[in-house]
Amino acid sequence: MKTLACKDTGSQCDWVGRAETEQDLLKQATQHVKQVHKMDMTPEMEQKARKVIRDE
Ligand SMILES: [Zn+2]
Repeated sequence: MKTLACKDTGSQCDWVGRAETEQDLLKQATQHVKQVHKMDMTPEMEQKARKVIRDE
């Protein structure tokens, strides 16, 4: 299981995404930033997110 914590990308947010694959996790993160942060996931943000993904 892979997890991604929004706060690890430098944002003041408690959201944590969990998924089996990095691709699914990034999909969740894309929806999260859109809904909660009102932003579109840019390639730069995606790269940042990939770096803070953890394996559990
Ligand atoms: Zn967030």
